[in-house]
Amino acid sequence: MLKDGEKGAVLQKDGSFAIVPHFPLGIVTPGDLRNVADIAEKYEIPVLKITSASRIAMVGFKAEQIDDAWNDLEPGIGHAVGLCVRSIQACPGTTLCRLGKQDALGLGMELDKRFHGLVLPNKCKLGVSGCMNNCAETPIKDLGFVGKKKGWTVMVGGNAASRPQLAQELYKDLTDAQALDVADKVLHYFKENAKKGERIGRMMTRIGFEKFQADVCPDCTII
Ligand code: SF4
Repeated sequence: MLKDGEKGAVLQKDGSFAIVPHFPLGIVTPGDLRNVADIAEKYEIPVLKITSASRIAMVGFKAEQIDDAWNDLEPGIGHAVGLCVRSIQACPGTTLCRLGKQDALGLGMELDKRFHGLVLPNKCKLGVSGCMNNCAETPIKDLGFVGKKKGWTVMVGGNAASRPQLAQELYKDLTDAQALDVADKVLHYFKENAKKGERIGRMMTRIGFEKFQADVCPDCTII
């Protein structure tokens, strides 16, 4: 019997399973979409759902179809389920949006390469917005980045769970390299200091925001 989360399959209410192939930042090629559509038709799955995190959930597999379905996806397409960095959302940023102040897709792609799937004490969602309009919902992400004229502002501790919490501004005026370094520090601090099941926001509240801010990156510019 396949368990929830095993082989990247998520147990559904009706006993079927969903798989969610990983397309970084929700960017897909026509080939990716054809591949997903072909598999959906081959296994006659009833639902393809574009999720709030810009992922494509393929819902309705039987347990015995999961291995074959993954094998039918193009090589290299992974997944992340359970307690880990499992979604990284980014807006079009300066690549496409006329309001963009920073390259949200560039930073988001690098975050995805480095941290997608990193195992943590609880799930962790990242967001990268190219300007203060926050189209990647940065204020409700566990770890978020907002592009401003002078660089990235890092926001930490947001979530939209049963007790929603707004992220707090942690550091500002960071370059891409500094933003990536802070992401690494925040995630590793979380890994080492959170209690099992705690999101970053709850951990921060327990530890105290000022201590957290001072601990994570003593040299960063504090807001
Ligand atoms: S957050 Fe800003 S840069 Fe990103 S899509 Fe929205 S308006 Fe454009």
